Amino acid sequence: MSLEHFSVIVLGGGTMGSGAAWALARRGVRALVLEQFSHVHSFGSHSGRIRIIRQAYAESPEYVPLARHADALWGQLEEEVGRQVLFRTGGLDMAAHGFPQARHARASAEQFGLPHEWLTGEEIRRRWPAWTIGDDWEACYSPDSGFLLVEPALQSLMLAATRAGVVLHEHEPVREWRTDGSGVLVRTDRATYAADHLIVTAGAWSERVLAALGLPLTVLRKVVWWFAVEDPSIYAIGRFPIFIAESVLGTIYGFPIQTGTGLRIANHAGGQRASPDTLDRTVHDAEADEVLPFARRYLRGVTSQVVESAVCMYTMTPDEHFIVDRTPDSAQVVLGAGFSGHGFKFAPVIGEMLASLALDPSSRPRPLFAIERFRPGFPSENPRRAANRESADHA
Ligand SMILES: Cc1cc2nc3c(=O)[nH]c(=O)nc-3n(C[C@H](O)[C@H](O)[C@H](O)COP(=O)(O)OP(=O)(O)OC[C@H]3O[C@@H](n4cnc5c(N)ncnc54)[C@H](O)[C@@H]3O)c2cc1C
Repeated sequence: MSLEHFSVIVLGGGTMGSGAAWALARRGVRALVLEQFSHVHSFGSHSGRIRIIRQAYAESPEYVPLARHADALWGQLEEEVGRQVLFRTGGLDMAAHGFPQARHARASAEQFGLPHEWLTGEEIRRRWPAWTIGDDWEACYSPDSGFLLVEPALQSLMLAATRAGVVLHEHEPVREWRTDGSGVLVRTDRATYAADHLIVTAGAWSERVLAALGLPLTVLRKVVWWFAVEDPSIYAIGRFPIFIAESVLGTIYGFPIQTGTGLRIANHAGGQRASPDTLDRTVHDAEADEVLPFARRYLRGVTSQVVESAVCMYTMTPDEHFIVDRTPDSAQVVLGAGFSGHGFKFAPVIGEMLASLALDPSSRPRPLFAIERFRPGFPSENPRRAANRESADHA
């Protein structure tokens, strides 16, 4: 029996799988995307409707060129599909005394000449009346930051891909895959497919799909919240930038209020170890304690009335940088995993990297994202997280 053959199969049609699909489409490649659920769903790492996009990257200046390129690609996608996905609101990287978020963002902005302003707590309160932080806070304000709407963003990536001939199969989980001489065989309940290359973008399921690699990935359960506020006008788009605020009360981030919703905030720090198949998808009232102390202390008029909540998953690497590389055993198999709670904004760029690693033999992974860094002897914790813990201990 002859098998249906593709140049590339993408295992997992979520965030990065959609990015890869668009990149492959732009190269004119015959590709198949296999997704176990519907395209865009709430069971993985893209639930919660909205994502921050920013360029003055506090995590490492190495991300800045990628974030700029991603920003440009989202714009290109908007033109191609005719639908807005990126909304610029300005963004605040904020830090209480002794925490590094704001200074690290400023360092990235300065290194790459990005537009930014350095602000004190007093200036922030004056410009954005929702804030009640103290004078000793500091912030890097970036006018180009904003948010992406998850559903339109992923739908647009996949629409552009399928229009150019990429095939998407929803509700078709991959049960097994193996390399086969010069290519790969991928089995689902419906068929076995052959391809020259496999791109694995399985999100929180990566460890299972790539069990033999023993990747150092940890899945965390994360909750996001929408709270009612007394005066929504001070949280409206145009009056309230997206923010990431580091303090003893966590690394809290949030968005301006969109019509008909509450204030969307969450804690980037913490989270419980979880497995995607047994994840507790119920949000418990007491869990609001991970964000409400911050909101009550530093934001005006946030009530404890939960308008909406959602559960999502982070897939963490030990250093919180991504894995985008070929597998060590087989050059035909490429993976994008471990996006550590900050990957969404990069989806079209990661898609390009994955396509290039699959199709261009001379393409090399970025050292920051290479699997090789997890060899024995490599530092196992992000130095920044360790420094933050120390700041918190001393604050
Ligand atoms: C609460 C929360 C807030 C976040 N905020 C931000 C933010 O503000 N900015 C930002 O840039 N990033 C943010 N992120 C991170 C970002 O959303 C993730 O890094 C990104 O979505 C990860 O993409 P992924 O493709 O790895 O996972 P997913 O989007 O979950 O995709 C993986 C896909 O693989 C499929 N799959 C798995 N196994 C199989 C199989 N065997 N067969 C077929 N399909 C399979 C899954 O069903 C899924 O669709 C946030 C994440 C969370 C959870």
